[in-house]
Amino acid sequence: MDLNKNLEKYADLIVNIGLGLHAGDKLGIRLSEHSLPLARLVAKRAYEKGVSEIDLDFSDDSITLDRFLHAPDEAFESFPEYRVNFLENRYKDNFNVLSLAAPNPDLLKPADPARIAQWQKVAGKANKPLMAYTMQNRVKWCIAAVACPAWAKAAFPELPEEEAMEKLWKNIFLATRIDQDDPIQAWEDHDRELKKHEKFLNEARFDRVHYKGPGTDLMVGMVKNHVWKGGSGFSQKGDRFFANIPTEEVFSMPDADRVDGTLRATMPLSVRGQIVDDFHFVFKDGKVVEYDAGVGKQILDDLLAMDEGARRLGEIALVADNSPISNTGVLFKNTLFDENASCHFALGAAYTENLVGSTERSEEENRKLGMNNSLIHVDFMVGSKDVTVTGIKEDGTEIVLLKDGDWQI
Ligand code: ZN
Ligand code: ZN
Repeated sequence: MDLNKNLEKYADLIVNIGLGLHAGDKLGIRLSEHSLPLARLVAKRAYEKGVSEIDLDFSDDSITLDRFLHAPDEAFESFPEYRVNFLENRYKDNFNVLSLAAPNPDLLKPADPARIAQWQKVAGKANKPLMAYTMQNRVKWCIAAVACPAWAKAAFPELPEEEAMEKLWKNIFLATRIDQDDPIQAWEDHDRELKKHEKFLNEARFDRVHYKGPGTDLMVGMVKNHVWKGGSGFSQKGDRFFANIPTEEVFSMPDADRVDGTLRATMPLSVRGQIVDDFHFVFKDGKVVEYDAGVGKQILDDLLAMDEGARRLGEIALVADNSPISNTGVLFKNTLFDENASCHFALGAAYTENLVGSTERSEEENRKLGMNNSLIHVDFMVGSKDVTVTGIKEDGTEIVLLKDGDWQI
């Protein structure tokens, strides 16, 4: 594998497909030491396209961890206001955002869970005004990932570091179609496929969706006037972009008050540097009324206690088992990849684009219609070859959507 050549193709894909950058655009890039080489390639192409300004947000795992381990208590009591103001002003100045994540799934393992929970609450509250810019597509935004030793080690613990890194990169390139001769064309073709499923689901007007599989028997009511979305999206200014690289999902809005039954997760979940595994939820009238986890129960406790909406669903996403990501057979231990290999739900905030007219209504009005609202949006995986997903219309008509891991529509 020629890493440099693939990184060039990756940068091309991010600039042309992920963000669809053009002359006059501005760009903020979130990066770390591991994503710097890719960020440089992206920046070069972005400037060549006529992007006028690029602003960087640098973070470092080692410094982040030391903060949690050694900074005084008061550092976690409030979120710096200047930081929120700066980022909000940058959005108002029409900056689009690219996150080049190099996530270490176990980063915060040595830190005090109470301190992490406290910080998540403080940071979540303070950053709420910022969430609207991406959740409502006021700007173009894109999340892509780069390999780093800690992630490679988590994904392939049996391999020495160098081989694990090589294997992780190889699978990232497979999952993102970078390995193909013309990734941009491959993404256009892939987008057309996703749009076909999106169209079918939108025309079907399902009232509810039923999940049946090992440990799972769940009925999910859909919000009236819900919208299914898959593949490319559009900013409020009408610019096309892809929020996630990779993306295999077609997703919509569940009714936060109409979810009933039991749901068993099919993959572990990495929440901000901590792992939850072997977990299930019991829902009644949309709310998680019972749950347990074999690993990381405390993390779930903190997550669900975040606010009222943290116990309810905000996203329902359908993903076929036959995709470049699933076909790698790799458990990436990273939500961006694993959620695109499996049907998933998110606890917490819903996306405005999944409900007709939502941006013209108040939060309270949307909530009455079943749109969930929360400081969190955490995806967890529920799909596998053994889970059958059926759409049910108001008149009782049933259509099998996914079976044996594949689309049936
Ligand atoms: Zn999703
Ligand atoms: Zn999600």
